[in-house]
Amino acid sequence: MLKNLRQDIRIVDAQLEASAAARAADKAQGRIERVDERFARLAMITEALWELLKSKTGWTDDLLAAEVAKLDHRDGVMDGRRTPRAVPCHVCQRNLPGEGRPCIYCGTPPAVNTPFSGLW
Ligand SMILES: [Zn+2]
Repeated sequence: MLKNLRQDIRIVDAQLEASAAARAADKAQGRIERVDERFARLAMITEALWELLKSKTGWTDDLLAAEVAKLDHRDGVMDGRRTPRAVPCHVCQRNLPGEGRPCIYCGTPPAVNTPFSGLW
């Protein structure tokens, strides 16, 4: 009798855990879908902007490819992406996980701000 009660409790606990895991998976799936939608929209806007620039300036796809390669090489690895690099805080000199954000140790604002600060 006591053994059956313990087993029932374990079964209910397992069901609750499974249910919580299913909810977490649904939530994560929803986040992934929203990121996919945002990425698709950003890609479309980027492409539209590039088409506009080409038509207005005469710039070429080769010119864009060269700029992309320069950015790709900036982190020291030609891997088709820009990997955030650790940068030292200009006040306390501790390494920070990305560029353009306030120091997580002393709170000092970044020394250099660009339109892309805080994105990397
Ligand atoms: Zn600092």
